[in-house]
Amino acid sequence: MIPPAFDYARPGSIEEAVRALADGGEDAKVLAGGQSLLPLLRMRLAFPELVVDVGRVPGLSGVREDGDTLVIGAMTTHHDVIHDPLVRRHAGLLAAATATVADPAVRHRGTLGGSLAHADPAGDLPAVVLALDAELVAQGPGGRRVIPAREFFVDYLQSALAPDELLTEVRVPKADGWGFHYEKFHRVAQSWAIVGVAALVRRDDGHIAEARVALTNMGATPLRAHAAEEALAGAGDAEAVARAAQEAADGTHPAQDTSASPEYRAHLARVLTGRAVLTAAGMG
Ligand SMILES: Cc1cc2nc3c(=O)[nH]c(=O)nc-3n(C[C@H](O)[C@H](O)[C@H](O)COP(=O)(O)OP(=O)(O)OC[C@H]3O[C@@H](n4cnc5c(N)ncnc54)[C@H](O)[C@@H]3O)c2cc1C
Repeated sequence: MIPPAFDYARPGSIEEAVRALADGGEDAKVLAGGQSLLPLLRMRLAFPELVVDVGRVPGLSGVREDGDTLVIGAMTTHHDVIHDPLVRRHAGLLAAATATVADPAVRHRGTLGGSLAHADPAGDLPAVVLALDAELVAQGPGGRRVIPAREFFVDYLQSALAPDELLTEVRVPKADGWGFHYEKFHRVAQSWAIVGVAALVRRDDGHIAEARVALTNMGATPLRAHAAEEALAGAGDAEAVARAAQEAADGTHPAQDTSASPEYRAHLARVLTGRAVLTAAGMG
């Protein structure tokens, strides 16, 4: 289908982009890789009056170190995240989960910032930044704002970004010494998760000292499985992990859709949490 008519701006700097968004108000939309926005436009599910294409704004892509933190530009493509040596060394969970997103064509265009700003609970990367305790940096007319990942995902397809804010970077604490795994259950390769589980595990003396578990597609937003995380502390074998994983669906409200019922999703969350944690802990 042909998208509705819209005005188009191609700013040359972050400041110009923010000004264009502020001028456009509620009716302006950022265009990053276009992998989610363009289908919405073509299906006439979004009607922005102004599209602000940030594809040529310098300083929005790439990965750098800032002490114990990795700073990843919002426009860094999935392909570049997967292959970046810093991400692979210090945030392997992000590289591994991004490798499960869609297909090579989508991964060459789609961006980390676009995936997070889109705030789709079925997207793989929102749960991953939640598990990594990342921070998201937004630039608006009033200046720069740092938003913890746990406050960023507000509702279905709704982030904490104001309409005139641009997501500029994602700050990921280095997860050195943590085991990790992203377990994605999907019907066919390269498709969306029916349920996904991002796990990070720190072991001490053969036992799990600390576990972080975040869930994809178990509610309107990505969720941390706090009850399972608490139950996992101290687990020393596969049986204890499986017991703790039974709590993975507590407090979740998964959707009913053509792929799965809420009950089936809850079952998947428990099974996949067990698998993800065992692999992350090197006990699998
Ligand atoms: C066939 C197909 C399969 C896919 N499969 C998966 C999958 O398995 N798992 C998965 O996680 N994703 C999947 N995706 C989505 C893909 O990861 C997209 O790249 C991603 O959701 C959006 O990134 P983008 O850069 O293309 O953003 P765009 O489509 O350009 O933008 C998406 C939204 O975010 C906003 N936005 C983008 N960047 C910014 C910014 N810097 N600041 C403020 N707002 C911003 C836009 O205004 C828009 O509302 C799939 C997409 C396709 C087309």
